[in-house]
Amino acid sequence: MTNNYVYEFGDSLYLNITNRCPNHCEFCIRNVKKGVAGSDLWLLKEPTYQELIDDLSLFPIKKYKEIVFCGFGEPMCNLSLISQIGPYLKSKGCRLRINTNGLGGLINKRDDVPKLIAPYIDCASISLNASTPEVYQEICRSKYGEAAFFAMLDFAKGCVAAGIDTTMSVVDFIGEEEIEACRALAESTGAHFRVRETIYEDSEY
Ligand code: SF4
Repeated sequence: MTNNYVYEFGDSLYLNITNRCPNHCEFCIRNVKKGVAGSDLWLLKEPTYQELIDDLSLFPIKKYKEIVFCGFGEPMCNLSLISQIGPYLKSKGCRLRINTNGLGGLINKRDDVPKLIAPYIDCASISLNASTPEVYQEICRSKYGEAAFFAMLDFAKGCVAAGIDTTMSVVDFIGEEEIEACRALAESTGAHFRVRETIYEDSEY
C-alpha cells in the first residue's frame, strides 16, 4: 500500500491530505470504497509539506481546472498543511477549491478560518446534508453532536463574507421535500446549492 497524496479526477487534481474526520456520515464513500479514480486513498501517514511538493512536481499543475483539497477524510483536520501548500499553489497561478464538511471552526477551535484561507482558496464546497440539526446529526453522526450543524452554517456564511465562491450541497437520497428545505437554507447563507448523487457500492469510480 502506498500513500496516494495527489491524484487526477476529471479535469481537476485532488490532494488527499488526511483520513481524519469528526463525522461518521451514513453516505460516506469510505463506508463502501477504498478510494476514487482507481486510487486507494487510505493513508498510512499524512504528507509533510515537502512530500506533497514532491508528489505535485510529478503533475503539470497549471493544466488542471482546479486543485482540490479533499482528503479521504476532512481536509480541515490538516489546516496547517493547507495553510502552507495553498499559498504555494496560488503563487503558481492555480485555482484552488476545498471540499469540506464545514466544521473547520470547531476542529481548529477558531472562528476566523474562512478569513484565514480566503487569500488562496477560490471556492468552497460545503456539505450541508440536512435542513435541521436533528436530521444532520442523524445522518452525519458528528462527534460534536448537533452543534456541528450550526458551526457548518456559520462556516458557510464566513466563506461567503470572505469572498470565497461557496456552494452547499446535499446527497440526493434525502428526498425532494428535504432537498428543497436545504436549498432555501443554503441560499439564506448566500451560498449556491447543489444536489450530489449518492455513491453506491457497485457504482463506477
Ligand atoms: S464528513 Fe466527509 S469524510 Fe467525514 S464521514 Fe462525512 S462524508 Fe465521510
